Amino acid sequence: MERSKVVIVGTGFVGMSYAYALVNQGAVEEIVLIDIDPLKAEGEAMDLNHGLAFAPRKMSIKSGTYQDTKDAGLVVITAGVSQKDGETRLDLLARNAKIMKTIVKDIMASGFSGIILVATNPVDLLTYVVWKESGLPSHRVIGSGTSLDSARLRYEISRYIEIDVRNIHAYILGEHGDSEFVCWSNANVGGKPFKDVIESMHQITFDDLEDIAYKVKHAAYDIILRKKATYYGIGMALVRITSAIFNNENRILPISVYNEGIYPCESDIYIGLPAVLNRDGVHHIVKLNLSEKEKDQLNHSASLLRKNLDSILKMS
Ligand code: NAD
Repeated sequence: MERSKVVIVGTGFVGMSYAYALVNQGAVEEIVLIDIDPLKAEGEAMDLNHGLAFAPRKMSIKSGTYQDTKDAGLVVITAGVSQKDGETRLDLLARNAKIMKTIVKDIMASGFSGIILVATNPVDLLTYVVWKESGLPSHRVIGSGTSLDSARLRYEISRYIEIDVRNIHAYILGEHGDSEFVCWSNANVGGKPFKDVIESMHQITFDDLEDIAYKVKHAAYDIILRKKATYYGIGMALVRITSAIFNNENRILPISVYNEGIYPCESDIYIGLPAVLNRDGVHHIVKLNLSEKEKDQLNHSASLLRKNLDSILKMS
């Protein structure tokens, strides 16, 4: 991975928030935009190029085709369709799974051998579909998982205790969805276990934890109610993952990874867990000591993912 080249498939809200954040942070040398609507991708590339005069580094930005994935280090999939009138959640899921398959076929036909990062929802299930279809080793196919949810959690905690969000270390684990849960047992603030933080601070009590978990879980619904979609947060989370890869950081991030049985829950699924990321993808999954309650929550989340995965695999 000599050059840092990213191909973004899907130039909607999420894809372009990611691209915009990449440009502003100067995170990569090359960005190629692909969309089923080539004119949209072309227009987005033109618009972004006009900001290069103000970017922190020299970059190449263009719209392209799947041939451009051949020498890309990373392909990020943010393409997707939304629910049609009368369509069930499962039908939508099957439709998005089909889209993933065609996209992956085109990527792999180019000779691509980099890393694929999926953000399209339901991200854990679609990352599995992408992994299966690509034939790539599982450490080279990841999903954004609970990276955004964990950032939301850190933000909410930071608001309560008035400590910089970057000093808050806490994960949301499990499905990126309704069955996700807060891993309170491993949360800490600047190295101080969260339990001690609560006992020594008046701004937060044990009763507030449920409130924080609720706010994080419902954040997407709350935003969608107001502006119909969420995209800035995920755009920045995707840049963090991208930088961990291209800078060979060995950075620990909560992302959707293939559970080969590292955690004692349903295996052969993709699920949000902390993983060490570098230029080769997932170096290893970090095994945390979970509380009994958290073990149950992870089990529940993993079983739901397994059930839904079986349904879409049957449908496609
Ligand atoms: P959007 O409708 O704005 O964009 C989707 C884009 O995909 C469109 O430009 C569309 O033309 C393109 N597209 C559709 N089919 C395609 C195909 N076959 N090939 C190439 N491009 C294709 O949607 P959005 O708001 O950008 O959301 C995209 C996805 O990201 C959704 O599934 C959404 O739920 C998900 N999302 C994930 C997270 C997360 O944390 N993982 C957060 C927010 C949104």
